[in-house]
Amino acid sequence: MGLGLSFLIGCQQPEAIDSIDSKIDALISEMTFSEKVGQMNQVNGRTTDEDFFERIRKGEVGSILNIEQPELINKIQKISIEESRLGIPLLIARDVIHGYRTIFPIPLGQAASFNPELVKAGSRVAAIEATEDGIRWTFAPMMDVSRDPRWGRMAESFGEDVYLTSLMSVAMIEGFQGEDLTQPNAMAACAKHFIGYGAAEGGRDYNSTYIPPRQMRNVYFPPFKASVAAGCASIMTSFNDNDGIPASGNKELLTDILRDEWGFDGVVVSDWASVSEMVKHGFSADNKEAAKQAVNAGLDMEMVSETYVKHLEALVEEGKVSIGTIDNAVRNILRMKFRLGLFDNPYIAVDQPSLAYSEQHLHMAQKAAEESLVLLKNANQLLPLSKDIRSIAIIGPMADAPHDQMGTWVFDGEKQHTITPLMSIQEEYGDKMRVIYEPGLKFSRDKDQSGFSRAVAAAQKAEVVVFFAGEESILSGEAHSLADISLQGAQTELLKALKQTGKPVVTVIMAGRPLTIEQEVELSDAMIYAWHPGTMGGPAIANVLFGEVTPSGKLPVTFPKMVGQIPIYYNHNRTGRPARGNEVLLDNIPLEARQSSLGNSSYYLDAGFGPLFPFGFGLSYTEFSYSDLSLDYSELSKTDTLKLSFDLSNVGDYTGVEVVQVYINQKSASINRPVKELKSFKRVELAPGDARRVHIEVPVSELAFWGIENKWSVEAGHFNLMVGTSSVSGLQGEFVIQ
Ligand code: BGC
Repeated sequence: MGLGLSFLIGCQQPEAIDSIDSKIDALISEMTFSEKVGQMNQVNGRTTDEDFFERIRKGEVGSILNIEQPELINKIQKISIEESRLGIPLLIARDVIHGYRTIFPIPLGQAASFNPELVKAGSRVAAIEATEDGIRWTFAPMMDVSRDPRWGRMAESFGEDVYLTSLMSVAMIEGFQGEDLTQPNAMAACAKHFIGYGAAEGGRDYNSTYIPPRQMRNVYFPPFKASVAAGCASIMTSFNDNDGIPASGNKELLTDILRDEWGFDGVVVSDWASVSEMVKHGFSADNKEAAKQAVNAGLDMEMVSETYVKHLEALVEEGKVSIGTIDNAVRNILRMKFRLGLFDNPYIAVDQPSLAYSEQHLHMAQKAAEESLVLLKNANQLLPLSKDIRSIAIIGPMADAPHDQMGTWVFDGEKQHTITPLMSIQEEYGDKMRVIYEPGLKFSRDKDQSGFSRAVAAAQKAEVVVFFAGEESILSGEAHSLADISLQGAQTELLKALKQTGKPVVTVIMAGRPLTIEQEVELSDAMIYAWHPGTMGGPAIANVLFGEVTPSGKLPVTFPKMVGQIPIYYNHNRTGRPARGNEVLLDNIPLEARQSSLGNSSYYLDAGFGPLFPFGFGLSYTEFSYSDLSLDYSELSKTDTLKLSFDLSNVGDYTGVEVVQVYINQKSASINRPVKELKSFKRVELAPGDARRVHIEVPVSELAFWGIENKWSVEAGHFNLMVGTSSVSGLQGEFVIQ
């Protein structure tokens, strides 16, 4: 019979139990060693049998992941509350990454919206749906700054930029956690993966990273630091070793920086078996040493590998781990359970009507998908398509791929709820025009060209061709890195065949990463990058194709021309020999040329210097013009706020939203600083012919960085400023910080 917390509280003076901390102390004082270690143990809930229930009864489990049937969760929770000695509730966790039932665009797509409010609304929807099933802890957001599209998990990221990633991460955390974490529909978020996982060498998943301390501070830490400041309930360590030290055993990272410097008091959880994997890294001799290194580093809860359960007792007896270290970890875990209100409210109300796939949730998912679409090309204003065309050919393996358009990390979304572009176009326009569907290829990797003739015949019969290409959802995500990021299968051949018909071709690409599509851009008259757009991708794409919605998405990541340009990102440091744009390329090198340094600048003979598409790029159906930039003050102190304004006009024919972007660069500082960095952005909607004076404020503190003196500070100096439509073009200004 469980003693329950009420029993413990009953023995205490009321004033002593006012705060969570005193409740925790009371509880810890009653716990046996094995109950403490039980709290630090997270187990996989895929097999639930009598042995499993018995472990819970004995207090050997603190948290379970991958269990999502509410009745079963209630049953297990009841065992923990009523049949374990202390009645401590279990924490139920799952990867709810970009939606639970209603699937939103992959995070990389959400980042393209440059709309943190929308991201927040999306994670709120996910939390409402997942908590209905009893999941109170999600392993999201993933905030690994990602600069290598070969890495499959770029799909889960917010892209290459530090500022955008920080803002989107905080927004997602706020949505998951809601206003009050004790509410039954609030979910603890988890900032992951701490740290540097996105910098896997060669873009190969789980690979080592080599991030020097200063780059760590300036590029990889900021989203985590911002998440801690925003009250994120937990942090997950990463799989990689950085410069030889696996994150799960890195005390400097998990204690000195995270706890002591940033003041984090939530839970640090390992990644799946990342504690025992320190043995494979060769960092720990065996599982026992791995447990010692992880717990002494400050890792509170171990996911699935159970080295804590097996070895902590001996390690404490041998004096290699202190009981204070164990108590601290347990304290962090219990604090999270109290913060979630689990002691007062451990059960799920199973009789409530479900909000999964509610009209409002689907509407939000559609809006998120619409704002995530990036228009990359629109020759001769082919888009938007006229609703008066008489026929349209829908071709390609992604036109009607309900599973694949949901993207990676979807455990609970159901493809029968997905609306594909084919369904939407048929439904919306099928009675106004002839919709001819011929996939040509069955799936993205398909090399069988036997369907080409029918696809070409369909194109010939239509006024316009829309070609849906890309990659299946399984080609991105964890453990799905690629060395070749061009279009899979025979998709490019199919596009060539379609082009030969002479019909205008719109290509829509659904993918989990930037693909090397220079050739496909050439072959297409218009192109939309749709990422994996989720449940409501179909209506979103149809609305953009036919002009119900003007596209406004901007690339959150640089698109390389060739895979060999990777890593390629806009906010790189400056070389002593920057490319000037007039470099000599392969074809222009004379035969038997004498040894020379050609253009004497930093570029590739075959790919040149620039990307296929830069960070921040995205077209609209309308056109915006920027003019008359002014700064309130061009000399500022370190505590001031930079205030700038400019005129933005819609000089085109459609109402549209422009994502105005502000980039800043310090001309010289104590260390080499990036050529430019995004420091603010704003979505501005304008009707055709309208103009507005746009005001943007950037606190000077945003310009701080980790400089030569190894501290976070703003350095006085001269700065360049650019305000514009992407990372490569805009109005220029200058200012000085004293
Ligand atoms: C991933 C994590 C995830 C965990 C639990 C791991 O393989 O790296 O991001 O949260 O599994 O599913």
